[in-house]
Amino acid sequence: MRYDAPYPEFSWSHSRDRALAECARAYFWRYYGGHRGWSPEAPEEARLAYALKQLTSFPMIVGTAVHDCARECAEAVRRGRPRPSFDTMLVRVSEALNRAVLGSHHRDLFQRDPKRVVMLQDAWYSGRSSSAGVAGAVAKARLCLRTLEASRVWADLEACRPECVTVPEGPEAFVHEGWPIYAGPDLVYRPDERRVVILDWKTGDESDADLQIALYALYCRTVLGLPFRDDEWFGRVVNLSTGDDTTFEISRLDVIHAAERIRDSVQAMQVLLADPDRNAPRPISDFPLPEPERRRRCPYCPFYALCHDELEEVEFGRCADAEA
Ligand code: SF4
Repeated sequence: MRYDAPYPEFSWSHSRDRALAECARAYFWRYYGGHRGWSPEAPEEARLAYALKQLTSFPMIVGTAVHDCARECAEAVRRGRPRPSFDTMLVRVSEALNRAVLGSHHRDLFQRDPKRVVMLQDAWYSGRSSSAGVAGAVAKARLCLRTLEASRVWADLEACRPECVTVPEGPEAFVHEGWPIYAGPDLVYRPDERRVVILDWKTGDESDADLQIALYALYCRTVLGLPFRDDEWFGRVVNLSTGDDTTFEISRLDVIHAAERIRDSVQAMQVLLADPDRNAPRPISDFPLPEPERRRRCPYCPFYALCHDELEEVEFGRCADAEA
């Protein structure tokens, strides 16, 4: 990406799709409004959108750190090395949580360099950093790491040849039907010459896991070059906070539906562009606030500071209309 380009490059991802479904205005702030907000010369609004986009929470930190631990474990097994111990992993997660509490004391530093300084959303909006949630977050991390440690996945990986185990570094861009797609499964392994298992670790909500796995099947076909075969591709979702470990078959229809879903979603995103060739968005007014009943969630949104005045205005207008 060119950092001085007037508009960001377009790429589709599952999280981008979810962002648009949840709130078009949040989608605007996250994917357009904060573009170039890293530059001190950028307009104040863009700098604020860019900073707010980096806000985090204890569950997000635990999720990311536990996923990093899971990746490290898988890589160790693939290389025939010992997995990191529970204590090592717990230290890693605790350090990430402590960094967030510490960073959250430094509003000025965060505003100057929001990518480097970790800031909790609660701390940003309340104006004070607190370690009150750390104990609960560590308890959740303990639970997830114990499940990770005892998972049957490791025995399954040990039974695979190293070249049959792929541990992606993270989401990767690939082209699907002409669009850049950003996706990446947590782990892919082939127990034998034909079967393919796509694994997704979860530390919380797993409601959209089926769809994600089907998207990852596209990744496996395109990036890993694995030929899709009916009855031989499987999704495996391991929820580390509940211990649920579910394996299901991925059908050709699932993959077709995932491709259709991407097509429809890309189209919905392209409609919001004034200049699709440059990925230039339409005016912000074309990214509406959500319906009144969904605005209850606004105070919990990272971009609340940017929407606050407009939300007040429309609320005031509604009240005045009701009184008239
Ligand atoms: S504060 Fe509300 S309207 Fe604004 S981006 Fe967030 S959810 Fe959307």
